[in-house]
Amino acid sequence: MNPVVTISGGGIIGNYISSRLSKNNIESLIIERSKSQNVINENIRTLTLNSFSKKLLDDLGIKVPFAPIKEISVFDGDGSGSIHFSSKEINEENLSYVVFFNDLQEKLQDHRDHQVFFENQIEEIFQDNENNCSELKLSNQEKIKTKFIAGCDGRNSNVAKIAKLNEKKSSYNQTAITFTASCEIKDEYLAHQIFSDKGIFAIMPLPENDDKSTHTIVWSVDNENLRDIEIKDYVKNNISYFEQKLSTKIDINSSILTFKLFSHHFENYISGHVVLVGDAAHSIHPLAGQGINLGFADADALCEEIISSYEKSMHIDQALTLKRYEIRRKNMNLLMLKSMDFFVNLFGSKNLYIKLLRNFGLSGVNKAQFLKKFFINHAAGKNKL
Ligand SMILES: Cc1cc2nc3c(=O)[nH]c(=O)nc-3n(C[C@H](O)[C@H](O)[C@H](O)COP(=O)(O)OP(=O)(O)OC[C@H]3O[C@@H](n4cnc5c(N)ncnc54)[C@H](O)[C@@H]3O)c2cc1C
Repeated sequence: MNPVVTISGGGIIGNYISSRLSKNNIESLIIERSKSQNVINENIRTLTLNSFSKKLLDDLGIKVPFAPIKEISVFDGDGSGSIHFSSKEINEENLSYVVFFNDLQEKLQDHRDHQVFFENQIEEIFQDNENNCSELKLSNQEKIKTKFIAGCDGRNSNVAKIAKLNEKKSSYNQTAITFTASCEIKDEYLAHQIFSDKGIFAIMPLPENDDKSTHTIVWSVDNENLRDIEIKDYVKNNISYFEQKLSTKIDINSSILTFKLFSHHFENYISGHVVLVGDAAHSIHPLAGQGINLGFADADALCEEIISSYEKSMHIDQALTLKRYEIRRKNMNLLMLKSMDFFVNLFGSKNLYIKLLRNFGLSGVNKAQFLKKFFINHAAGKNKL
């Protein structure tokens, strides 16, 4: 088989790209390392989609149960600074949409009408300039010819390694802890985020939740604080701090999942016919819930460029098509990554002057309408090239 686009990685971004191309009659093939469709475990991990990502899914007819967030209250647990974001400030119905990771993955898998090779991966890539394509050797020894190779294979991208792309990697020295819990938050459309030396604590509503008291919690903690203690004990010992701040009891009602947090970004997203998309190209701290949204914006730009090249000519100039994608996405992603690193460093600091500055900063931003609008528009995915 000779698909136009071969996608390494059948996660959310890989599946989205394949469905979008298929809608435009462009054939693709997914090569997925894992065994088969994801086994759906307990619904714990959530993602917050911005309006732009949700629209991309709506356009493909993919409906995922969601909980809307209309307001976000961000405050510094150790001080008095706070900032309040509301969807009304940007004339949107909602700021973002909380979905279960499993639900989104499952809906995308159900929707796809393209082929997936499971338990397989790309081993070698040979660029065949004479025939304007690349030949791939897979781990099952099969060979395929393709025009584009999209690396959607996550943080340790295999395709990026084969293409010898240069990565800049650093650790946040933090672990994200996530679980669901029952608590009484008065407004069902309100999310809270608290910055403190016990970690960055976000609490949000859950989708399709008749029992409005169940929420999702994403809590990032310095690894230093977790060095001599079991994670479940750290949670048990420290949750009362956030109960006090939110004036509610928080009862954990799921297993606790953990993720080590890293930041990475590639100097170049493209090499020959290879292109990196989503977490393969960059990863970011989950504090602003932007990882998958950057991935969807990448996927949209790449699909637009490939589709447009196909509409113009049957002779595809891969280098030009991919360069346009890289120009559209690299600096936007870098800006978001740098902003998140700035926030993590600012709120991680124990320095008194920096504490004062951040309290002043949060309250100052709250008062400066143009700055607030900049932040909300960015988070809502409205600043698009
Ligand atoms: C705790 C936490 C909370 C988060 N919350 C949010 C949030 O609220 N909002 C948000 O926008 N983002 C959030 N994120 C980030 C988001 O989860 C990621 O950005 C997103 O899942 C990346 O999707 P992806 O498809 O690019 O990569 P992945 O989800 O990593 O998928 C990669 C796929 O490639 C496959 N694969 C790997 N290696 C190979 C190989 N060699 N060959 C073939 N296949 C391979 C994998 O099996 C997988 O199927 C969060 C992340 C964490 C850790």
